Amino acid sequence: MGEFQAWFRTDADCLDYLEWLRWPGGFAGPDCGLGGWRLGDGRFMCSGCGGRTSVTAGTIFDRTRTPLTVWFSVCWLFATGKDGLSALSVKRTLEIGSYQTAWAMLHRLRSVLVRPGRDRLAGAVEVDETYIGGEEPGLSGGRAKGKKMLTGIAVEVREPKGFGRCRMGPLADASAASLHPFVKDHVEPGARIITDGWQGYSGLEKLGYVHDRRSQRAARAHGEDPGELLPAVHRVASLAKRWLLGTHQGSADDAHLPTYLNEFVFRFNRRRSRSRGMVFYRVLELAISHDPVRYQDLIVAKRPRAVPPVPPQVRGHPPSLERPPANRPWRAVGPSSSG
Ligand SMILES: [Zn+2]
Repeated sequence: MGEFQAWFRTDADCLDYLEWLRWPGGFAGPDCGLGGWRLGDGRFMCSGCGGRTSVTAGTIFDRTRTPLTVWFSVCWLFATGKDGLSALSVKRTLEIGSYQTAWAMLHRLRSVLVRPGRDRLAGAVEVDETYIGGEEPGLSGGRAKGKKMLTGIAVEVREPKGFGRCRMGPLADASAASLHPFVKDHVEPGARIITDGWQGYSGLEKLGYVHDRRSQRAARAHGEDPGELLPAVHRVASLAKRWLLGTHQGSADDAHLPTYLNEFVFRFNRRRSRSRGMVFYRVLELAISHDPVRYQDLIVAKRPRAVPPVPPQVRGHPPSLERPPANRPWRAVGPSSSG
């Protein structure tokens, strides 16, 4: 925290950090990859084609009207908090005037977390599907309001015990046509896949996996608890549900549920990271190499829904958090008379 405050005191500090992240070996034109020079207005010109660009152009910070000191503070809270934070708490903590601005910043950060071509899970992997979403605080058991989303969950299991990384993704249904692509997208061929007896998992051997099928009937016959056939996926599913209820107070609407689950997975897979500063670095590194995310794309529902995800409201733009040295202003007013 101390280092964060010392490093990123001004918007210019933040911009220079993004420049260093984006072009560690110096400016390279986005089209030809050649070098170039800095123009008077802070932009860069490519020596190959003469094209002009800025550090933030073509990234999620493209055309942002939110000062970078505010962005960095949100990113810091997002990356360093164990459970992340809600748009409401961002709005309150940073005194951002508009809930929607805070909401959109968090969604832009969420949208960069899934890196294309990331390593798939390997080793022994439990896979199951379950319904997530629709939970609201105060409603227990099956009395959940809202829609639930069928979600595929894959979790690496370690010997003799413990969990590795996990992955989650929305499923159209529990058929093999939906489950097989989920497994292929998230698990390395050759891995041992542990599932229950559901027919949708039949045929995984043909896809190059070792399939370890556990049947409830066999568990009962052995005197084991059939509910504990797949302890890793059930643990991860209950953590995800608790996180949606806790940090987000059930405000994760179903259209955006997959991106919330991406955030959950990102956090879960870094739960043992000792340096939160490294997580901050990683989020910014992903953000500066991610294409712009338009506001329209954030509010467009991924699935048909009756109610728009965000209430119509004027968007505001917060002032910079940059401050000149204040020179101990409390000395200027003198102590208040206290009898
Ligand atoms: Zn060029």
